[in-house]
Amino acid sequence: MAAQMDTIVRRGTVVTVGGRSVVDIGVRDGVVVQLGGEMVLADGGTEVDAAERIVTPGGVDAHTHLTDPVRGNPDIAWADDFESGTKAAVAGGITTIGNMSFGPREGTMVDGIEADDAEAQQLAVCDYFLHPVLLRPTEENLAAIRPLHEAGHTSIKFFLSFNNFDRNVQSFLTAMRITKDAGGISLIHCEDAAIMDCCCTLLREAGKTDPRFFPDARPVQSEVVATHRAVGFAETTGCPSYVVHLASARALEACHDGRRRGVPIYVETRPIYLHLTRSRFEEEDGAKYAGAPPLRDQSDVNALWAGLAFGNVDTLATDHAPWKLAEKLDPAFDATNLRQGVADLETCMPMLYSAGVLSGRISLEQFVAVSSTNPAKLFGLYPQKGTIAVGSDADFVVWDDTKTRVIDGASMESRADYSPYDGFEVTGWPKWTLSRGEIVYEDGVVTGSPGRARLVRRGPHRPI
Ligand SMILES: [Zn+2]
Repeated sequence: MAAQMDTIVRRGTVVTVGGRSVVDIGVRDGVVVQLGGEMVLADGGTEVDAAERIVTPGGVDAHTHLTDPVRGNPDIAWADDFESGTKAAVAGGITTIGNMSFGPREGTMVDGIEADDAEAQQLAVCDYFLHPVLLRPTEENLAAIRPLHEAGHTSIKFFLSFNNFDRNVQSFLTAMRITKDAGGISLIHCEDAAIMDCCCTLLREAGKTDPRFFPDARPVQSEVVATHRAVGFAETTGCPSYVVHLASARALEACHDGRRRGVPIYVETRPIYLHLTRSRFEEEDGAKYAGAPPLRDQSDVNALWAGLAFGNVDTLATDHAPWKLAEKLDPAFDATNLRQGVADLETCMPMLYSAGVLSGRISLEQFVAVSSTNPAKLFGLYPQKGTIAVGSDADFVVWDDTKTRVIDGASMESRADYSPYDGFEVTGWPKWTLSRGEIVYEDGVVTGSPGRARLVRRGPHRPI
């Protein structure tokens, strides 16, 4: 007798990193239980007709900001929370997000994780995991790394761009050793604080503080120096390390060089570095493109696309950090301190599909690797997340690869009222997004409810 299913996705072309085939997917209790063969729908079940359509694993976006780095400070308060952020995610085909959990000014990384988890339980529409951010490498926080790993939070994040890094390098290296021994991975923001500080002074002295000089406040050498240090730290401690939002050809070469020597260094890039160049800062409202690192040159864009195609760039993550346009253009900020970050959760995967897959720059299998499977492996979510296989969570995107939409941030799910890609024409959008077998997005409408999401407790890091 054919097995009964809660959800069946019929006749789709199912793509994983290993290839593609037309196969029915049977789901029970939110998990894939059968691929192909006889299956029937249980009473009240959901059937999705995916004939002639591509079906990929739901996106795993390892890098988002849906909780404020400093609670209660409007100067750094994102436009989105877990509700609007995860609605944007599922509308764009992302079914698992990793959030950077900064925690309160006083207190420990554990307090940050608990506060963000409580918020996500109430508000999130899709599953999530939490990266403990190590701002202050105190004894208390160093002692928290292992218990946090044992509770399923198997990563730490820290910033070479913050002034306190160089005052505490030894303690951060201790944190990397503890993380390595616990089976985790470090996420490292690679921009050099001292170089940027010097550049800001030079710009002020030269009277060049107009926002269009923002890329000169955070130049490529600042990224390259910090990336070389990250490679050296990974080489020394043996801690798997992940360079967040890498933006330049030279920083990519530093990582590639390390990898050739066997250093466990991994590379994330971010959509703005694939679709935009620094010439955008010449526009009147150029401040709206500010992110850290800043936009680079066309040669950097080309190197990052080649990196995605040849496996030197491991993941694409949004670094979703949304502001409203008026906040980005606030004249109180200048080239040395522009508000950084843009909304990208709804646009990331469709734009990779459009500019990557449909244009022939990357294959569908590479699309799946960088948007889902690789981040799931690196951050200990695989095979629960990141693939379509028996035993995996039933997180899928069924694509409409003929649908064209002109980006208009004001009408999208994020509460940021603009997109850095406003006016871009993008072909290839999710028709249905499923999270644990439930349709959470269909034809322009988010159907998943806040509060349905689950924290993913992670296992150890896996090499790709
Ligand atoms: Zn970030």
